[in-house]
Amino acid sequence: MAKKDRSFAAKIAKAGVVDKIPKCPTCGTPIQTVFLVRPVQSERGHYRFKHNVTKLCKCNRPALGL
Ligand SMILES: [Zn+2]
Repeated sequence: MAKKDRSFAAKIAKAGVVDKIPKCPTCGTPIQTVFLVRPVQSERGHYRFKHNVTKLCKCNRPALGL
């Protein structure tokens, strides 16, 4: 009986739908890849912009100020 219950999930997994959405093992939300541009102050006191590609989920969302 367990086999029948799993068949639908197995079909989706085979189709690759589930695999394409990585989920965070800590919070369980889908991990988004976001492109961030943040100002970084250098030692001389002026700002540069740092480009960053970051993986975003509920865990680090507050830390990134989003
Ligand atoms: Zn997380």
